[in-house]
Amino acid sequence: MPETPSLSNRDGWHSLSADAISQRLDSGEHGLSSATAAERLRRQGPNELPQAETISPWDILAEQFQNVLIIILLIAVALSALLGEVLESVVIAVIVLFAILLGFVQEYRAERAMEALRRMAAPAAKVIRDGREQTIPARELVPGDQVLLTAGDRVPADIRLSETANLRVNEAALTGESVPVTKHSAPLEAPDLAIGDRINLAYSGTDIAYGRGRGIVVETGLATEFGRVTGMLAGVQQQRTPLQQNLDKVGRVLAIAAGIVVVLIAGLGVLRGEPVLEMFIFGVALAVAVVPEALPAVVTISLAIGVQRMVKRHALVRRLPTVETLGSTSVICSDKTGTLTRDEMTLRAVWTDGHQTAVTGSGYAPEGELELPPDAPEQRPLVERLLRAATLASDAHLEQEDDGWRLYGDPTEGAFVVAAAKLGLERSTVEEQAPRIDEIPFSSERKRMTTLHREPLGDAPQGDSPELAAYTKGAAETILAGCDRIQSSAGIRELDDATGAQINAAAKALASDALRVLAVAYKPGATKETAEQGMIFLGLAGMIDPPRSEAQEAIAACERAGIRPVMITGDHPDTARAIARELGILRAGRVIVGHELDRMNDAELEAAVEEIEVYARVSPEHKLRVVQAWQKQGRICAMTGDGVNDAPALKRADIGIAMGITGTDVSREAADMTLTDDNFASIVGAVEEGRGIFSNIKKYLMYLLSSNIGEIGLMAAATLAGLPLPLSAVQILYVNLATDGLPALALAVDPPEDDLMERPPRDPKTGIFTPPVILLMLVGGIWSTLVNLGLFVYELNNGAASGLDPEQALKHAMTMTFVSLVLIQFFKAYNFRSDRRSLFQQTFANKWLNLAILWELGLLTLIIYVPMLSNAFGTYALPASDWLLVLAAAFSIVPVLEAAKWVLRHTHPEPQIGNASTRAD
Ligand code: ATP
Repeated sequence: MPETPSLSNRDGWHSLSADAISQRLDSGEHGLSSATAAERLRRQGPNELPQAETISPWDILAEQFQNVLIIILLIAVALSALLGEVLESVVIAVIVLFAILLGFVQEYRAERAMEALRRMAAPAAKVIRDGREQTIPARELVPGDQVLLTAGDRVPADIRLSETANLRVNEAALTGESVPVTKHSAPLEAPDLAIGDRINLAYSGTDIAYGRGRGIVVETGLATEFGRVTGMLAGVQQQRTPLQQNLDKVGRVLAIAAGIVVVLIAGLGVLRGEPVLEMFIFGVALAVAVVPEALPAVVTISLAIGVQRMVKRHALVRRLPTVETLGSTSVICSDKTGTLTRDEMTLRAVWTDGHQTAVTGSGYAPEGELELPPDAPEQRPLVERLLRAATLASDAHLEQEDDGWRLYGDPTEGAFVVAAAKLGLERSTVEEQAPRIDEIPFSSERKRMTTLHREPLGDAPQGDSPELAAYTKGAAETILAGCDRIQSSAGIRELDDATGAQINAAAKALASDALRVLAVAYKPGATKETAEQGMIFLGLAGMIDPPRSEAQEAIAACERAGIRPVMITGDHPDTARAIARELGILRAGRVIVGHELDRMNDAELEAAVEEIEVYARVSPEHKLRVVQAWQKQGRICAMTGDGVNDAPALKRADIGIAMGITGTDVSREAADMTLTDDNFASIVGAVEEGRGIFSNIKKYLMYLLSSNIGEIGLMAAATLAGLPLPLSAVQILYVNLATDGLPALALAVDPPEDDLMERPPRDPKTGIFTPPVILLMLVGGIWSTLVNLGLFVYELNNGAASGLDPEQALKHAMTMTFVSLVLIQFFKAYNFRSDRRSLFQQTFANKWLNLAILWELGLLTLIIYVPMLSNAFGTYALPASDWLLVLAAAFSIVPVLEAAKWVLRHTHPEPQIGNASTRAD
C-alpha cells in the first residue's frame, strides 16, 4: 500500500511541478485505484467540513420541555399530588407526557427529513479512478485523486492543476477578488506567494467561471484553504417561511386572547369559592389545551414531510419557503434541451454544397451509414470531412462498456462523434492526425466552439500560422457569419450572397422538421485570435432530440392548472417552434428571438410578455429580463437554468430550478430547487405537491383553531352564565390531545382534492386566512360551543329532574359534554378536509384519518366504561340512550358546516382558470 501523502507540504504545492506531485501522491494518468482511494479515505477522513448544525434527538426532546405552560402545569400537579389528589395528578402527567412524546416524534421526523435533504444536496466531483472517468460524492475525494473541472463546477478540494484550457476561476468566496483569475499549470518559483497569486492551484469552494482544467487533489476537508478560513459548511438553508412568520404573529395574538379568557374563567371560579390550587391547575390545563403554541411547528412539519414527498417525485427543495411559493407558481419558464426534450441527440441529416445526405442508425452505437443522394455520390468526402471536423472540435467521447456504448460529454457533440464513428472516423485516430493545441470553449452566449490543431494544411492567409488549422462548430448563423468561402466537391469557392441564402434556406428546412441544426467550418492556417474569421464553410448537420413523452402530459396539466408554460432556448427559432408546437406550448402566441428581445425596452417586453410563448436563440442574460417582466405582471415565475450565467435569473425567479444531472454547481447553488431527473414533468409534480401541502396546512389549521374556539367558548360561556365548569382539567387536556394529536396529523397527510390541479394558482397575497377559512372556523367553533353548552344545561336539569344526586348529575352532564365535544371534533375533521366541497364527497378517502378516529373512539369507550379509567377521568358510564342523544347533538355540526360551505360556494366562487391564464386558444 503506498504511503498516505503527508500534509507537510501544504504551502509548497505551487512550487512543485504537477508531475512531481503526481509521483509524490502516487497518482498517474489513470488516477488512483479504488482500493488506494478507499484506504486513503479511511486514513484521512472525508473531504468535508463540519456541518454548521446538527440537531440531536436529545436537543429535540429538550426543546419539548421548554414550553413554560407545560412546566407550570407539571409543577402544579406535583403540588396537588402532595396535597392528596394523586390520581388526577398522575393522569394529567401521563397525558402531558404523551403530548410531549407526540411532539417529539413529529419534530424528529421533520428533522430527519431535513437531514436527508442536506445529504442529497451534497456536491459531486468528476474524477479519474481506475483509468475511468467517474462522478463521485465530493466528500469521498482523497489527496492524489485526478479531478476534471469545467465551467460552472464548484472546485471540490484544493487542486494542483496539471492541465488548463482557458481556465478562469472565480475566487470571490475565498479571497474577495471579484474578477475571475486565469489559471495555469506551470510551477511557480517564488516560495511565499499569497493565495490569490498561486495561479496553478484551484481552491475548494471557488467556482470555475470559464474553460476547462484537470488537476490533482492536494488537500481535502479542513486542510483546504477554505476549510482553514471558514471551518464551516453551509448546508441546506433553513429559513422561516412567510406562512410561518404569519402564524408566529397569529399564534401570539391568539395566545394572548386565550390567556385572558383562561385567567377570567379561573378567576371567576375562585371568586365562586372553588379551591385556588384546583382552579390554578384547571386554568393552566386549559391554557395548554387552547393556546396554539404548536402552530408554527406544525407548519414546519407539514412542509418538511412535503419536501420528503417531493424528493420521491425528483424535486429537491433547498429552502422551506420554496414549498409554499411553489403552490402559487403561475408561470414556468423552461429550457428546452434536456428538460422538455430527452437530450439524446442523433445526427439524422447532413447538408453539404447544396445536397442533403441522410444518416441511419439510432442511439450511441456507431452502427449506421450514409444515404447519399443518388444524383450526388460525390458528396461522401465532403460529409466525411464535416464529421471529422466536428469531431475534432468536440470534447465528447464514446466508449464501449459491458452494457453497450456510452457517451461521455455533451450529447450535441456526441451526435457528431457517433456519426463520425459510423464512418470509421474514430476520435482517437483523428486526434492523433491533428493534435489539439488550444481551444475557444463553447458558451451559451457564443453558441459555438473552436479548436486549434497542429495540422499543416497549407494555404495559410498572411499573418496566420501555416502549421495550425482551426475547426469550429456551432449555431448555423454564427458560423456562417465567420465564413467567406465554402467547401464544394470541386474545391473551395467564394461564399457569395446566393450561396448564403441557400444555406439559410437549408438550415430553416432542417429546423422546421424539429431538428437541431449546427454548422461546421474550418480554416487552414490560423492563430487563436483570427481562428473564427475568414473560415471555410463545410456544411450543416441536423440532429433529432425527441421530446420527453411525459413533458406533453405535464404541459397539458399546466394548462388545466392555470399555469403558463414558456419555452426558453438557445436553439434555432424554427427548431424551437416545431418542438413547442408538438408539446403544446406554442398555441396562438408568439415566438421571438434574442435579438428582437434586445431591441425591446423593459416596458415593451412587459406589454408583450403574456403573448410570447417561445424565446429562441436567447442567452442566459435574457432570462433575467423575462423573469422580471413576468414578475411585473404580478406573476409567480419559476425558471430553469443549468449554466454559470443562468445564476442571476435563477436567483431572481420566485422559484429558481437547477438541473441535477446536467446542471452546474453554480446554478444549483443559486437555485431554490433542483430536479434530480432534469425533467419538466417533475416541476409540475412539485407544483402539485406545493399546492397539496398548502391546502393540507389550511385543513389542519381550520381544524385546530376551530376546535380551540369551541373549547374555550364552552368554558367561557358556562362561567359567564354562572354554571359549573362543564369539563375537568383532565378532560380538557384529553380532548386537546385526542383532537390535536392523531386526527390533526392525519389531516397533514390528507390526499389532495382531485381538482387540486384544475384550479388557478393561489394568489400569494391572500395568505391562508381567507374569508371562507375564517368563516368556517368561526361557524364550527361557535356551533360547537352552542351545542355543548345546550347539552350541558339540558343534562344538568334532566339529571336533577330524574332524581340523580347533584354530584352524579354534574358528572353525567360533564361526561355527555365531554363525549359530544370529542365527537364534534371528529365530524369537523372530516368536514375540514375541504373548505369548499361537501363532506359527502369522498368522505373516507383519508385512511390515516379513519384509523385515527377509530383509535380515538376506542379510547373514548375505554375511558367511559373501564372503571379504573372512568375513575381517573371522572366519567359516568353512559347508557345506550344517552349515546343516541349525544350523537345527534354532535352530528348537528355536519348540516351547519354544509350550509356554510353552500353559502360560500355561492358567494365566493373560485376564480376560473380562464381568468388567470390569458391564453387565447
Ligand atoms: P436550451 O434549450 O436548454 O437553452 P440549447 O442547447 O438549445 O439548450 P445552448 O446550450 O445555449 O442552448 O446552445 C445554443 C446553441 O449553441 C445551440 O442551438 C447550438 O447551435 C449551439 N451549441 C450547443 N452545444 C454546442 C456545442 N457543444 N458546441 C458548439 N455549439 C453548440
